[in-house]
This record gives sequence, structure tokens and C-alpha cells, in this order.
Amino acid sequence: MDQTDPRRLIPRTDDLLALPGVRAARKRLSDRVIRDLIRHTQEQARRSELAPAQVEPALLAAVAARSATTLRPVLNATGVVVHTNLGRAPLSAAAVDALVAASGYVDVELDLATGSRSRRGAGARAALLAACPAAEDALVVNNGAAALVLATTALAAGREVVVSRGELVEIGAGFRLPDLIESTGARLHEVGTTNRTHLSDYADALSPATGCVLKVHPSNFRVEGFTSEVPLGELSPLAAAHGVALVADLGSGLLAPDPHLPGEPDVATALASGADVVIASGDKLLGGPQAGLLLGRAEVISRLARHPLARAVRADKLALAALEATVAGEAPPVVQALHADPDRLRSRTERLAAALQVPVTAHDGRVGGGGAPGVPLPGWALRLPQAAAAPLRTGDPAVLPRVHDGFCLLDLRCVPEADDDRILDAVRRALATLEAAAEVGAG
Ligand SMILES: *Cc1c(COP(=O)(O)O)cnc(C)c1O
Repeated sequence: MDQTDPRRLIPRTDDLLALPGVRAARKRLSDRVIRDLIRHTQEQARRSELAPAQVEPALLAAVAARSATTLRPVLNATGVVVHTNLGRAPLSAAAVDALVAASGYVDVELDLATGSRSRRGAGARAALLAACPAAEDALVVNNGAAALVLATTALAAGREVVVSRGELVEIGAGFRLPDLIESTGARLHEVGTTNRTHLSDYADALSPATGCVLKVHPSNFRVEGFTSEVPLGELSPLAAAHGVALVADLGSGLLAPDPHLPGEPDVATALASGADVVIASGDKLLGGPQAGLLLGRAEVISRLARHPLARAVRADKLALAALEATVAGEAPPVVQALHADPDRLRSRTERLAAALQVPVTAHDGRVGGGGAPGVPLPGWALRLPQAAAAPLRTGDPAVLPRVHDGFCLLDLRCVPEADDDRILDAVRRALATLEAAAEVGAG
């Protein structure tokens, strides 16, 4: 490197580490993350993408922009309430408080009165049982899929799971319930056809090899037309006569019926109909953290809780804390979004539309997350040019719109009202980006 090579002027690592802005960032960021940012900035200068004098300001900007997590909060303007790609259910304030409180040492498995070990997650269990008195006992595991794996392993490994062909669903991203069940060592005994299954199909299939009867709510699609399925109430005496458990995988997580979602099954009704164990997710319609709920007969739940696999799929203290607060606290955002007042949605949308000079269009939201397929949630949306979607997604705050029919639609159903003005500012910036790009294009 000769004496005039500008690369000689690139600030050295030690000098950059000593900058006050970088030193302050060491309270937030690990040494490795900071050194990676420094190395990256120096390399940009070595490749002449940055002048040596720009290294310091570029590094300070990069350090300021970097947080310890790369997950970014997103304003969900899609109208899809349980949005899987956005982490499903946003937590209630009560659940967030509980999560923060549980982040330190916490009595998740300790009785402070006696000082001895206690049942893990007793608070979440008690809250679930209070909210769903039809259940004798409850067990919380990592997610709905884990609950299904635990139930089929404990009840039917080496034996058969009797299930209707119409219920062998794919739950998303290529994960299929039949594969999940067979991975436990249970054999599937499929009965009926895709569209019709009768009680006699189940009766013919039950044998000494049966481990359990499984009924799955096909939550993400609907079969219409010439269809029939056997309700839990008819399956229950059949399973009982053979001494096997009847397991109902509901997916959705409603603890009690919701008049807004008439087709959606709920835990209380499934138990009252005779299911021995009901499986549901914590982060779908329940509106809580990722969790798998198993509710039902005390004897069956305790069999599941004692199985070695229960330890491998147990819920963490944060999920237990947030779940308890979701069930015992105020209505979570998912429930509020599902029940949003249409007039209020309309006036919020019209206020933003007037400020932005853009049209309002009728728009149906969705339950999403594989729940209540085909149930529209009527509302409104701001209508923008489709090209606004990309700058909205990559802006700050990030806003996820729905791109549909050549337009970028913003539905406020899942946006907290307190964030309306942030949406307004974000749209202004996105539209300004489009105008600037159009001028460059024209000029
Ligand atoms: C969503 C769903 C699952 C999986 O639950 P996760 O909590 O996503 O693991 C299982 N069964 C049904 C019917 C579902 O809808």
C-alpha cells in the first residue's frame, strides 16, 4: 500500500470502538455485533464505497439503527386478524405485563409458602379451568402441533389413530397432520371418504389395535355440497364402548362459542359433546402466546402429563405467564379486532382518507391463521396505488397492506386506534416516495 493510498486513512478498529456513540451502544449490543458493524463499515471503505471520512458517521448511523433483535414491529393493515407471517396473535397489555414480570426469576414451579417444588404453570392451568369449567384438567405445551404429537404418542404409539379421510389436513407451510401423527409411531387408520364419513365407518374400524379416535376440525378450508361428518356426540359413546379416548383437535382456540363465528368449534362445546381431550392453539382465536392447550378428562390429561414427551414439549415460563394473563385479563387484540365496530372502523378510515385525499373502498377482513375460512369480516380500506405497498413495508414503522386487484389496500381492523396517525404519516411518506420516483422517471 503506498503512502497516498486513501485506504491508509480508514479509521482503525480501536479508535472506532472508543467513539462515545459506539461506547454507549455497548450497553445494548454485544461486543461481537459492534465489531461486525465496524468491520462491515471498514470493508465498505476498503472497497471505496465509502470515503475514509465517512466511516465514522456511517458506523454511528449503523450502530444507532441496530437493535439487539432484528425482528421489526409491523402495523398489520391487511385486515387478516391472525396473520401467521406476522406472528399470529398480538398480545394484550395484560399479557405483555405478565411476560415482562416473568422474564426474571419467577415462581413458575415453586410454592413460595412452603418453599417446595410445585406444579409447573399452575396459574395458567387455573385460569383455563376457570374460563372453561367443562374441563376437569388442563395441560399447556409448546404449540398445537406439540399437543397433537403428545396426545397421539401417549394414547396410540404402536397402535392406531382412527380418523376420517376428510380431516387429514395440511396446517400450513407443507406440514400435514397425517405425517405429524405417523412420526409418533402411531398408525393412521383412515375411515370414510374425503366428503362423507359415517358412524358405521368408525364402528367398523375400531378394534383392539385402536389407540384413540381423533376428530380434527379442518380449520383452513370448507367442504361444501354432498358432505357428512360424525359429530363428537355420536363418536363419544362408540369410543367409550371400546375403552379408547376421543381426541378433538380444534385448532382455533375458542374456549366458548363466539356468536360472530358461528361455524367455529369451541372447547366447552366439544367437551360437553363427549370429547375426552380437546386440543387448541394459544395464539389463534384465543389471542395469546404460542402454546398448545390440552383440556379434558383428568385421567387422560394426567396420562399425557406423565409421558416423557411432555417434558420435551413443555411451555416456557413466558408463554405460561402471557397465556394466564390472556385468559384472565382484558379482551386481547384478536378478540377486539374480530368484534371491531363497523361504524367506528368506517369513521377512522374516512378520517385518514380525507387527510390523504385517497378513496375508501368496502373491504372484507379475514380471521386468518387457519380459522373460520370463508367468514368475511366486513369493513373498509384506504385504496392506494399498488406501488405504495413496497415503501410501506420497508418504511419506519413498517406497514403491511393487502395487495389485491391491482391496488394497495389498508384495512384498519387490526391497527390499534392509537396508531392511526402513524399509518397516516407512513402513507404520506410512501406516496411521497412514489411521486419522487415518478419525477425522476419523467425527468
Ligand atoms: C393450527 C392447527 C394446528 C397446529 O397448531 P399450532 O399451534 O400452529 O402448532 C393443529 N391442528 C389444527 C386443526 C390447526 O388448525
